[in-house]
Amino acid sequence: MTIEIDSKITDSEWEVMRVVWAQDKATSKEIREILQQKMDWKPSTTKTFIGRLVKKGMLDTQTEGKKYIYSANINESEFIKSTLNETFENICNKDVGHTIVDLISKATLSFKDIDMLEKALEMKKKDAVEEVPCNCIPGQCKCNIHDVH
Ligand SMILES: [Zn+2]
Repeated sequence: MTIEIDSKITDSEWEVMRVVWAQDKATSKEIREILQQKMDWKPSTTKTFIGRLVKKGMLDTQTEGKKYIYSANINESEFIKSTLNETFENICNKDVGHTIVDLISKATLSFKDIDMLEKALEMKKKDAVEEVPCNCIPGQCKCNIHDVH
């Protein structure tokens, strides 16, 4: 069975998801208790966010007696990947390179991370192009403006 997931979530909903991802399964009380140190939510507020996530297909509900137990329908790394993909789809192809450089410059990286990056870059060299073509419609990026002399 495939579940239709609406992965457009708010920052508050993301806070809830991080707890569920880390705990595997959690009740709304457990979620609220963990988030207490960060968010000052009432039980009803927590339940509202959980309800929205269930509606979006992000969370699955199981009952155990009177208790509702929540688990994630999508794993965290898959979710991050699709969120990043969506963001990059909104960037002109020409700007993707320096956006990645920007991300790398700001990140704290281990030697192992850098090793992985170097390997990935080495692979990318094999199919690098002289110039990345713009993929935007005229008027949604600066490329066309620069092209007109
Ligand atoms: Zn463009």
